[in-house]
Amino acid sequence: MIKDILSPLSCAGCRLCCSFDKYEIWQTPTISRELKERIQRSFPHIGFTENGSSGSYLFDMRDTWDEERELFLCPALDPRKGCILGDDKPFECRIWPYKAMDLNGTLVISIDPICREMYEKPLSVLVGELEKITEGDKTLEEYIYGEAEKTPALVKPCEKGFPILKVR
Ligand code: SF4
Repeated sequence: MIKDILSPLSCAGCRLCCSFDKYEIWQTPTISRELKERIQRSFPHIGFTENGSSGSYLFDMRDTWDEERELFLCPALDPRKGCILGDDKPFECRIWPYKAMDLNGTLVISIDPICREMYEKPLSVLVGELEKITEGDKTLEEYIYGEAEKTPALVKPCEKGFPILKVR
């Protein structure tokens, strides 16, 4: 979605957004029931776990611990090809490293500091990307707010170190 400012080549050599240490498990993508069912039909080896009482799901990563890297790997990550989900990537992966977050009850758009390539870009570039048309006639910002308001489980609590780019 943001290929203009984040090259697929950089992503291919990184994949940090698809692996999680034990403190980052809260950042794993939220998945709707419909998306879970679609993924299960194509990739029956991928497991899911209920996301509290929200009616949504998370990937089951209990068996994906990588001893060498000391990280949990997303079960949809192919070490050579990258994400295997194509158009069925969860919302949070589609907009990553942007994030829809809750800051004391206010919906904000932030950026994940783990993506150094994006994090080091000027603020004007990061905000400018959010204001470009991306989905139909919507800007990326409008798309993020629309999805986040439709499905509140997609919104993660805002943590220290996540800069705020936009406030709803
Ligand atoms: S679903 Fe795909 S893009 Fe999202 S964390 Fe898993 S491998 Fe990465």
